[in-house]
Amino acid sequence: MSSKRKITVAYGDGIGPEIMKATIDIMEAAGAQLEYDVIEIGEQVYLKGITSGMEPKAIDSLRETKVFLKSPITTPQGGGFKSLNVTTRKSFGLFANVRPCKAFSPFVKTHFPKTDLVIIRENEEDLYAGIEHRQTEEVYQCLKIISKPGTEKIIRYAFEYARKYGRKKVTCMTKDNIMKLADGLFHKTFDEIAKEYPDIQTDHKIIDIGTALIADRPEIFDVIVTLNLYGDIISDVAAQVTGSVGLGGSANVGEEVAMFEAIHGSAPDIAGMGIANPSGLLNGAIMMLVHIGQPEVAEKIANAWMKTLEDGIHTGDIYQEGISAKKVGTDEFAKAVIARLGQKPANMVPAAFDKSSTAPIEIKLRPAKKSKKELIGVDVFIDWDADGRNPNTIGDTLRRASANGLVLLLITNRGIKVYPGGMKETFCTDHWRCRFQKPDQSPVSHAEILDLLAQIKDLGFDFIKTENLYAFDGVRAYSLAQGE
Ligand code: NAD
Repeated sequence: MSSKRKITVAYGDGIGPEIMKATIDIMEAAGAQLEYDVIEIGEQVYLKGITSGMEPKAIDSLRETKVFLKSPITTPQGGGFKSLNVTTRKSFGLFANVRPCKAFSPFVKTHFPKTDLVIIRENEEDLYAGIEHRQTEEVYQCLKIISKPGTEKIIRYAFEYARKYGRKKVTCMTKDNIMKLADGLFHKTFDEIAKEYPDIQTDHKIIDIGTALIADRPEIFDVIVTLNLYGDIISDVAAQVTGSVGLGGSANVGEEVAMFEAIHGSAPDIAGMGIANPSGLLNGAIMMLVHIGQPEVAEKIANAWMKTLEDGIHTGDIYQEGISAKKVGTDEFAKAVIARLGQKPANMVPAAFDKSSTAPIEIKLRPAKKSKKELIGVDVFIDWDADGRNPNTIGDTLRRASANGLVLLLITNRGIKVYPGGMKETFCTDHWRCRFQKPDQSPVSHAEILDLLAQIKDLGFDFIKTENLYAFDGVRAYSLAQGE
């Protein structure tokens, strides 16, 4: 018999304690070899003044066990509190969020009975970098950070996942028709890596039509890989169309640590009532058992759970007259799963995990190639609200600033060119992006930029930030202005 594997467990808030107890009862009855290091996270920790929602000893526990089974938590409203989920994902490098979305029709009501897809969402970058600024009276900014290694890692993970679990197709979703550099990197990397997996079909969809298709024809998708924010949104769309928001589990996987949870929140509206469905957390726990090398226990639980659904033993959230046989609470549902351990579903495809499912997905990144980076200009962002915001006034004044041939090329407002030769209909805020380059686009020095900024200040302008314009290996590495 294998020795017990220590895992970190948090009972969380709201319905968290009820669904965690049910999940642990089922795992124990199924013969899981586990030892639990219970930590406190969430509301009580936030209210002690720890803004991350996690005490240092909880972090030590995770460092030691490297596996975290987590109930949902309540994030207190109001400023200052950081999302514990985002903090855990980023500080432990949990780069892949894996969310299987499967229909359990007719036992769980859905219009899309054939849905069986897995969303692999990049988990650390994008707009979740959390770098936000208010720059002017009117304008706020949130930076979207996309890195080459972050992108390569998640795309390789998606292909490796597809191979490991016998999936046939990987679809990439981006918005690279608009964000040509950031989302473009994701799409381009996907196309390059796809060549290494000729056994897997590939496809790319723009995220808007991709989301619409998930809502309308989810059965056409198999594995989907996408950026953080899009992944967050499509995960909920996909879970909703399977009719199983309360059933889905999710894994957050890093190179060393992994966190498993339900996709739903702490459901304060039904907390303490004993009616919550523990299936979401249980499905997270099944993924965890596979991850830690106890696939036979995972398989046993998954099959007993499906058999329970088939037998119509349902919690209130999925109960349907005519299909369900009995409405049960959390504990009774857990007991029904335990009573079916060793049985398989008769109508749904039984789960089958073996040792090969537990082999970790190892990602090897390509050696990085160094490009030749050249500074060829600067965008200076200015807060200006005078003269009826006439672009010609700010433009004609800024023309007086020039450093060794570095001159004003154009001004945009919210990305659209307003100077020279803007359209009078364009609405202008108090936020102006002023592009300075040498007419022949020859290299610019940092000293020239500092000289330029000093002149801009002397002309009386408040520059709120600068963004250097680079070329990498001679290729322009910034977007052109709309209308440029
Ligand atoms: P929620 O998922 O908690 O609840 C949405 C609705 O679904 C509620 O009506 C709830 O009763 C129902 N529901 C959810 N899980 C259920 C279950 N297992 N069984 C039966 N019914 C269930 O979403 P919310 O109300 O938007 O958020 C509540 C709190 O949870 C917030 O503080 C939010 O920040 C937090 N939250 C935490 C996580 C997490 O820890 N991973 C995720 C999402 C939301």
